[in-house]
Amino acid sequence: MPGPVLLAVDDDPGSLKSVKSELGDRYSRDYTVICERSPERALATLETLAEEGSQVALVLAGEWLPGMSGGDLLGKVHQLHPHAKRGLLIHWGGWGDRATGEAIFDAMAHGRIDYYVLRPSTSPDEVFHQAVSSFLLEWSHSQRTAPHTIHVVGDSWSGRAYELRDVLERCAIPHAFCLADSPKGRELLAGAGDQPRLPLIVLPNGHILADPTDAEIASAAGAAVGPDSSDFDVVIVGSGPAGLSAAVYGASEGLNTLVADEGGIGGQATSSSLIRNYLGFPRGVSGGRLAEQAYEQAWVLGANFALMQNVCGLERADGRIRVTLSEHGPVTARAVILATGATYRRLGVPELEELNGAGVFYGGPASEAVGLAGLDVYVVGGANSAGQAALHLARYARRVTLVVRAQSLTAGMSHYLTRQIDATGNIDVRLRTEVVGGGGDGWLERLVLRDGAGADEAVSAQGLFLMIGARPRTDWLPAEVARDSRGFVLTGSDLGEDCGWPLERNPFLLETSMPGVFAAGDVRHGAVKRVASAVGEGSIAIQLVHRLVAEETLHPLPAA
Ligand SMILES: Cc1cc2nc3c(=O)[nH]c(=O)nc-3n(C[C@H](O)[C@H](O)[C@H](O)COP(=O)(O)OP(=O)(O)OC[C@H]3O[C@@H](n4cnc5c(N)ncnc54)[C@H](O)[C@@H]3O)c2cc1C
Repeated sequence: MPGPVLLAVDDDPGSLKSVKSELGDRYSRDYTVICERSPERALATLETLAEEGSQVALVLAGEWLPGMSGGDLLGKVHQLHPHAKRGLLIHWGGWGDRATGEAIFDAMAHGRIDYYVLRPSTSPDEVFHQAVSSFLLEWSHSQRTAPHTIHVVGDSWSGRAYELRDVLERCAIPHAFCLADSPKGRELLAGAGDQPRLPLIVLPNGHILADPTDAEIASAAGAAVGPDSSDFDVVIVGSGPAGLSAAVYGASEGLNTLVADEGGIGGQATSSSLIRNYLGFPRGVSGGRLAEQAYEQAWVLGANFALMQNVCGLERADGRIRVTLSEHGPVTARAVILATGATYRRLGVPELEELNGAGVFYGGPASEAVGLAGLDVYVVGGANSAGQAALHLARYARRVTLVVRAQSLTAGMSHYLTRQIDATGNIDVRLRTEVVGGGGDGWLERLVLRDGAGADEAVSAQGLFLMIGARPRTDWLPAEVARDSRGFVLTGSDLGEDCGWPLERNPFLLETSMPGVFAAGDVRHGAVKRVASAVGEGSIAIQLVHRLVAEETLHPLPAA
């Protein structure tokens, strides 16, 4: 059977010839390479491939084609092949030419291309191949065909099967879901013996786990679920961007570091399908990928991890700080960094709560978008995360409606996102509107929207993504850790006179009212709620731990 298609279109015969030979030489064993000279022929070929049901992995188009720009052509690709990656071919130095530069910015801002690619200049041209293989890796992730994919087989999309998908998502582990009565499900069940308990997990090495616990599945997939020792220089609670950054800096600076998280790695960031504003990733990076890389970086530097461990206790004991992990029990440390982030508020509509995982999702659509192809989807929220979710879903869904309580989008969303939303034909925005009801039989079927005047409207909907404001999860902290009225942790100069600070010295910048306990990232009162600021605060917290150690060496604390 011919492999997925790599299609290139360019009107410059010399350039097309070298693209064809580079693609053919390197990829023709696994992919079908097709080259076209005009945008019309390329579109006709893409239509035929869509009718045949053939997969298109990548489309490359020269920036200036006769009668149509490469960006405009690539902008049409997702209507026919929603998963295909799209690269704009440019000449070396082309970004210095104003017209090409503007074509790239415009096409990127409006989501018409994924990135640009330099035309090959020598053979082999490894720069060209690096760009192509990055596209193919991203494509294979979106297809859930990447190597080491774990399969979840369940008898419904919701319930425990959804929770297990969520655990895998939060551990940044590639996974795919299928229903037990689908052809793939039957094939996987056939290899699992007589009547296995569902949901079933099939690991890439063929091992099978029937209805595993969260810790079992994480551990089987290679995640660290328990610490090897019980005393550390620093314990970091939470492995989102702030916690992972603190882990990288802590471990690299010689501190014996433990990171504990009640779930997997990456925190909220794993629900972001494409983070475009994080330094050093010009083509954007998915939150899952960023978390995966950061975890690996912290791990090779020597950080210890304890995943699937809810941290439920924090107290001072014998000059150290004791942290209680739900499964492992207590560990002690000289310093603790709270990097527990925040979670989205619940909608509070019982009929919709019941459909959590079955069309109703809290957070972004990282793994669910593909399953919503051709359907009507709603995103609730007015911040950047909601805007990104709507744009990502618009590639698959028939229509995406962004439901916002505020009077305008500009109040909570970056300008680049509002522009992109305006320019995306299948996104509607409903301002001054709330979701007040809905339901469905096993899967979301309808919603009830209420407008600013109080009028209700029932609409058909198969997907609902809720991104309606963050709240910190700090209820478990002792009273000594002062918080604001919403539960965010107060640090440094935000600590008032009455916060109970017990020492002569002033608290350090990110230090809480409990000496030796720091807070970094979204959990902190006044935090910016961005990946970069969480990462920055994680690294600063480690510098403050060094200062604390120096200070306590000079002035030891009295044992409690
Ligand atoms: C869909 C979406 C899209 C986004 N897009 C962007 C973007 O494009 N750019 C950008 O800059 N930012 C974006 N953000 C915001 C960004 O993800 C957050 O600001 C960032 O993740 C905060 O990092 P953090 O480490 O402080 O907290 P979190 O990411 O919230 O991580 C906190 C971790 O702590 C763990 N935890 C909590 N309580 C406990 C406990 N008691 N015991 C053990 N573990 C615990 C949680 O399981 C979690 O893993 C987005 C957010 C979302 C949801």
